[in-house]
Amino acid sequence: MIPVQEAKSIIQGELYQLGSEIVQLNDAGNRILAQDIVATFPSPQFDNSAMDGFAVRAADTNGTSKGNPGTLKMVSVISAGSPSDITLKIGECAQCMTGAKIPNGADAIVMVEDSSGFSDLESVQIFLEATSGKHIRKKGEEIKEGEVLISKGTCITPSEIGTCATFGYGKVSVAKKPKIAIFGTGDELIEPGNELKPGEIYNSNLYVFAELVERVGAEVIMRNVIKDDRNALHSFLSEALEKCDIVISSGGVSMGRFDYVRDVFMELGVHEHFWKVAQKPGKPLFFGTGNSTLIFGLPGNPVSSYIGFMEWVWPVLETMMGKTETKKLTGILKKPFPRDKSKHRFLFGKAWLEDGKLVCKPSTKTGSHMITSSLEANCLLESPLGDGLLVEGQSITASLLPWLSLGQER
Ligand code: AMP
Ligand code: MG
Repeated sequence: MIPVQEAKSIIQGELYQLGSEIVQLNDAGNRILAQDIVATFPSPQFDNSAMDGFAVRAADTNGTSKGNPGTLKMVSVISAGSPSDITLKIGECAQCMTGAKIPNGADAIVMVEDSSGFSDLESVQIFLEATSGKHIRKKGEEIKEGEVLISKGTCITPSEIGTCATFGYGKVSVAKKPKIAIFGTGDELIEPGNELKPGEIYNSNLYVFAELVERVGAEVIMRNVIKDDRNALHSFLSEALEKCDIVISSGGVSMGRFDYVRDVFMELGVHEHFWKVAQKPGKPLFFGTGNSTLIFGLPGNPVSSYIGFMEWVWPVLETMMGKTETKKLTGILKKPFPRDKSKHRFLFGKAWLEDGKLVCKPSTKTGSHMITSSLEANCLLESPLGDGLLVEGQSITASLLPWLSLGQER
C-alpha cells in the first residue's frame, strides 16, 4: 500500500498529451482548445453606432433641447453593413442604424427618440444637445488587434464559442478525445432494465463511467460487463490495450477468489506501477501501463468506483487533453469529517457559501456501497490520514464536481 501523494507522482510520470484535430466551431463545445485564439482584427473593427439614430457633429447641436430644437440637413441613410464612407459637413447629419459605420466628421449619435424621427425629408429636428462620443462604439475599445483572446488549454463553453465566432474562427484546433475502454467484472452483474434473480445486482458503475467519460470530453470506444472469467477478460483486454489510450475497469481487483483482473493485466504484459493505495474508499486501486495505454483498475463498490474515477482518472484525462489545471478548494467544516488513522479519506460532500466563505459538510451516508450519497453532494471532501474527527470550524479540501455549482445548505 502506498500513500496517495506517491501514487499521484507515479501517475504524473506516465502522463503524455494527445494530439490535436480541427473541428467545426459548433462541434467544439466541451472540447479543450489546442491553439491560442488571437484577435486578427480590433473589436469593434470600426467606429459604429450603439443606437438607431442620427450621426451628428456634436457642436452642431449646441443649445438644442425639446423646447428649442435644432434643424440639421439629412444627407444619407447608413444601415448596418453598409460600406458608406461619406463625410458630414457643418450642419449635416445622417440616419445611422445600430452597428452602422459612423460617417467621417460625425462624433456623436442622437437617438431617434430625441429627434423628429426617421423620414425621407431633407431635414430633421434634433431635441437634445449631443456630447462628443455619445453612443459611439469606438474602434478597438473592447479588444486590440493581436490580443490573445482565449488561451490553449481552455475548455470551450458558450462564451468561447461566441468569442471565436465573433473573430471569424469557423474551425478551431482542439485536443483529440482520449479513446477509452470501460469494463465491469462480476457474475452478479445484470444490466438495468432486466429482471434480477436472487443474489444479482444491477451494473451501475459502467453507467457512471460512461457519463463521466462523456462529460470530461473523452470517448468510450469499448464497453462491456465481463463475467469473472479469465478467458473473457483476456480477450476484451488484449483488444482494449491495442485500441485505447485508457482502460478503466471496475471491480475484480480486490482480494476475492474471483478477482482476476490484475492477473490478466499481468498475463498481457501490463507493467504494474502500483496496486493498493492508502485511501478510503478504494484501497485496491491498480495503475499500470501497456505501451502507451494507461490502465486504471478501480474497485467495484459504487462509491469507490465513482470517487476513484473523479480523483484518479478525471484529472489524467484533462491533462492528456492539455486542459489547464483545476485547483482544489479549501472550505470550513460545518459538520465533523471522519478521518482515518492509516488512509486518506474521501467522502461525497456538500459545499456552499456562507458570508462569502466556502463551507462544507460530508455526506451522512459513508458506506462505499451507498451510491445515493452522491445525490446530496456537489463536491468531494478529503482529508489526509489522522487521528479522530476533523471538527466543525476546521478546514477541509474540497473539489467541486465540475458539472455542479455551489449549492444551498440542505
Ligand atoms: P469487487 O471489487 O469485484 O469485489 O466488487 C465490490 C462490490 O462492488 C461488490 O459488492 C460488487 O457486487 C459491486 N460491484 C462490482 N462491480 C459493480 C458494478 N459494475 N456496478 C455495481 N456494483 C458493482
Ligand atoms: Mg467482483
